[in-house]
Amino acid sequence: MGNDKELMGKLVSLCKRRGFIFQSSEIYGGIGGFWDYGPLGVELKRNIKDTWWRDMVTGHDDTLVAPGAPACYAMVGLDTSIIVHPQVWKVSGHYDLFHDMLVDCRTCKARFRADHLETSECPRKPSVHPGGHTECDLTAPREFNLMFKTHVGALYDPASTAYLRPETAQGIFINFRNVLDTTRVKLPFGIAQIGKSFRNEITPRNYTFRSREFEQMEIEFFCHPDQSEGWYAYWRERRFAWYTSLGLQSEKLRLRDHDPHELSHYSRGTADIEYAYPFLPEGEFGELEGVAHRGDFDLRSHMEGKLVRQGDRLAVETDEEGKPRYPGSGKDFRYFDDQTRERYIPCVVEPSAGADRTTLAFLCEAYTEDAIPDSQGRLESRVVLRLHPRLAPVKAAVLPLVRREGMPEVAQDIYRKLKRHWHVFYDERGSIGRRYRRQDESGTPFCLTVDGQTLSDDTVTVRHRDTALQERVAVADLIAYIEVALEGG
Ligand code: ATP
Repeated sequence: MGNDKELMGKLVSLCKRRGFIFQSSEIYGGIGGFWDYGPLGVELKRNIKDTWWRDMVTGHDDTLVAPGAPACYAMVGLDTSIIVHPQVWKVSGHYDLFHDMLVDCRTCKARFRADHLETSECPRKPSVHPGGHTECDLTAPREFNLMFKTHVGALYDPASTAYLRPETAQGIFINFRNVLDTTRVKLPFGIAQIGKSFRNEITPRNYTFRSREFEQMEIEFFCHPDQSEGWYAYWRERRFAWYTSLGLQSEKLRLRDHDPHELSHYSRGTADIEYAYPFLPEGEFGELEGVAHRGDFDLRSHMEGKLVRQGDRLAVETDEEGKPRYPGSGKDFRYFDDQTRERYIPCVVEPSAGADRTTLAFLCEAYTEDAIPDSQGRLESRVVLRLHPRLAPVKAAVLPLVRREGMPEVAQDIYRKLKRHWHVFYDERGSIGRRYRRQDESGTPFCLTVDGQTLSDDTVTVRHRDTALQERVAVADLIAYIEVALEGG
């Protein structure tokens, strides 16, 4: 577990060779912290996001109590703008507090996150320091806000300054009342959103793990304060189980509770779901998702103004005249329970996942090298991506054994029928063994081969990616066959 640089090198090269992930702007030398998803990568990432949306939102049954849940609940979705009113970030605390401590090397001008430095010396090689490398190379740490700035409209003045969102969550909070007023949802319920977020990370690294532009899959779950601990426990377990159900081995995953000193000033509890990525040192884990009990901090801030901790309570931060430093919207975010006649600000539990880190974890987990017998029975080594069938970019490849005797026509007919349901691939070029190997590297769960027997009995060979075992299935049964296999995993 962890610390497998060789595996990481092989995975990065496969991702480039097969079109999963490319460096952004590669033809101009690249741009640090930005990545492009290629033809297979876009399908994989989209399947991850669609699976998350289906499992968390549209597939959720709000008439049944889910296992481990304190009660029935509803889920709805949103898609909010990337740029929002700058007051949102002032009130949420991002404007003042969303920073990392930055350290510069005076000699080679490189920048580092203070908490990533292991010693008080510049970690770059002494040879890159003109005139030598001294102990006093590094400046004292200073604050660096991670939000990307832009300007809205034609004027470049402070009043037109806006920010690219560093998280999708705030778009949900500011629409809380809109959702309540336009749907029939009652507490408890969750609002989900998937979208791009931007952070001007000081040292983007570890492939797509720490990028400057990335995608998040977030849920803000609103509930009665008295039930919030139960919901926090529910979402920690529910989200952990989601990853294992899609193939992440539980020994490489862990749920780590934050120590009290790691908690944000408003959080009543946070647990990270972490994965032992191969680029990390042995025994270290990287965050895939954070599940946080945020109390009523967010809704109350957007109602009353930016909150700060005063002793053991949160209070609106004021200026010299005693007025709120960053005033809230004044919108009433209290919820009225028409059964109990109670009016209160709901508590929030937030499971916040990164789509790119999730994609990377599934790729790391899926990468396997093994050996299977070739047509003469000799063992042949291969690379195979053992992705869960729900996540696989291509669900099936349809392959005529040879390019004659009418096999391509029959195969194309099958391909067109399947294409109405899934992303399937047609390939008639090269030896069948090489075509199988190509699909193994793409993570395609099934290859459907049209051969001589197909022409007489309307069956195809179904070759399974993980075992390389083959069986015959009637063409008429293929859709039902693949449907069952995709759900089962
Ligand atoms: P880290 O401590 O690694 O910087 P974080 O605790 O700041 O992460 P959150 O603010 O909790 O991250 O964001 C929720 C999720 O968004 C993270 O669990 C991660 O999956 C994803 N995420 C955050 N920052 C990045 C990034 N720079 N690149 C890719 N994904 C990210």
